[in-house]
Amino acid sequence: MGGLSRIVPAMGLLVLPALMAAPAVQDPAPVLTQARTPEGRAIILRLQFKKGLSVEGKSLPRAFLAKGTDPGGWVPFESLTPEGKRWALAALFPEDQWREEEVRHRIRHPDVESVWTMAALFSGHGQNYDRLMAENPDLPEKVREGDVWRIPRGLLSSDLGGTGRGPDRSHPEDDLDDEARVAAYRGLLSFGEDDQGKYAAYRMRKGEALYSSVVIRYTDRVDPKGVTELADRIAKRSGIPDVRGIQPGQLIKIPLTFLADPFQSEGSLGLAEEREVRAEVRRTIRVEAGPKLKNVRIILDAGHGGVDSGARSNGLWESDYVYDIAMRVRRLLEQETEAQVSSTIRYPGLGFKSREEIHTPSRAAEILTTPPFPVDGESPSAVSVHLRWVLANDLFAAFRRAKGDAQKTLFLSFHADSLHPSARGSMIYVPGAALVPTTFSLGGAKTGHVAEAKQSARVAFTGREKLQGEARSRQFSETLLKALHRERIPVHANRPIRNVIYRGGAKWVPAVIRYSTSATKALIEVANLTNEEDATNLRDADFRERYAAAVVNAIRAYYRK
Ligand SMILES: [Zn+2]
Repeated sequence: MGGLSRIVPAMGLLVLPALMAAPAVQDPAPVLTQARTPEGRAIILRLQFKKGLSVEGKSLPRAFLAKGTDPGGWVPFESLTPEGKRWALAALFPEDQWREEEVRHRIRHPDVESVWTMAALFSGHGQNYDRLMAENPDLPEKVREGDVWRIPRGLLSSDLGGTGRGPDRSHPEDDLDDEARVAAYRGLLSFGEDDQGKYAAYRMRKGEALYSSVVIRYTDRVDPKGVTELADRIAKRSGIPDVRGIQPGQLIKIPLTFLADPFQSEGSLGLAEEREVRAEVRRTIRVEAGPKLKNVRIILDAGHGGVDSGARSNGLWESDYVYDIAMRVRRLLEQETEAQVSSTIRYPGLGFKSREEIHTPSRAAEILTTPPFPVDGESPSAVSVHLRWVLANDLFAAFRRAKGDAQKTLFLSFHADSLHPSARGSMIYVPGAALVPTTFSLGGAKTGHVAEAKQSARVAFTGREKLQGEARSRQFSETLLKALHRERIPVHANRPIRNVIYRGGAKWVPAVIRYSTSATKALIEVANLTNEEDATNLRDADFRERYAAAVVNAIRAYYRK
């Protein structure tokens, strides 16, 4: 979208949660099934809502356990050998028919089964749920007892004798860097016009779904409602009666007004802005700081906190988990580098420590201004959002006054979102140059009366600074994606670097990076809480540590010429 008139001067965080955390919704009780191993030992299988299948470990034959698996307690399905997986599915679903060309799976436990669970068990990836739905266009997404779902051999995991491959890894664009990838996606479009107006035409490829391969890729929508609504609209525009019945080769018509800037037609403002930024990225020379990051000023922000627990899904809430990752990044930077590191927020009961287990939402948090500003719901949450950039800008100003190099400043804000479940992994927001204002001054009531606001509640950016800000932030984001890939941490399949949030007809850049005076800044959505695999990852302390290590590796790689 080229039009800039609909910028929302809101605080700009992705989800504005209710101030009070909602009580946990009761999950349906797990289904326990007794089965016999080939040796005749009794064993319990447990199928849990959104958590999937696990098997009592103690009597499992060794041949069923993947190498290195601890047989104590419950063994997750993923830790079984192919033989163990086939046995477990047959024991749990005795009515299923395993045929040469497909498995016919009969729903037995509609309370705990879902299309996601089926995709995870049979195809190896919950992410394949939209492909599974496409294979069963006549069945409703909400599963019913007795429904028979087809899982064709091409979707069945190789462990189960199928030829299925992992999701989203099938296209040549996947290995390209951001600019080349976006250009390749653009190359797949052609422009046309019919009696309903102008459109961009796209032909569906094998294994693609309208949600992820068209809407999330070619438009700026990623939220569940926006994606679903637009998918329906585009399907209708393309003469397709059912989104789930789409076959490879199908022609999709995307009305031009929905296209994200990089895909707008020649001559449009959006495309011109996109090209200007890409040119700036190519011109921008990296800053060298050496592996110890000497004299680099880094400020870490963990989104939400206190009464604001952020996005929620799959039994997780955003605040504590992203705080934990930020604290791990902080610790690694302090241990391994000479960078000067500060945080914008602290949980008083915990300090700057990370945790192996996170049980309940922390209720206290303070922004580290002078005096500290408690995130306690007494003041609107907008204040605590704004104070993060005010504080960070004040610290950066002090760094520059002390002869610090303005180019060696980095601001990172950690979040997790709740997007359409087909979007998986990390996504990074950079401040789109066109959406950063020339001047902005925080109103008195929103300054929280902290000392930092006296000098740093006002910002001004030249056109050049806006472009440089987006360009450097894009360079950093690209480096971060590479580091995440190396750690095998999932990243959005389509456009993992974005410079705008689009929601409910409005577009904006999150305030913490929009007003940041740091040379390089990024808002990192570490995971999509709505996606079950992402949620499982985030719950795991080892994953959070690997994530933090990838961030630190990226920072080090970024400050090398
Ligand atoms: Zn957030």
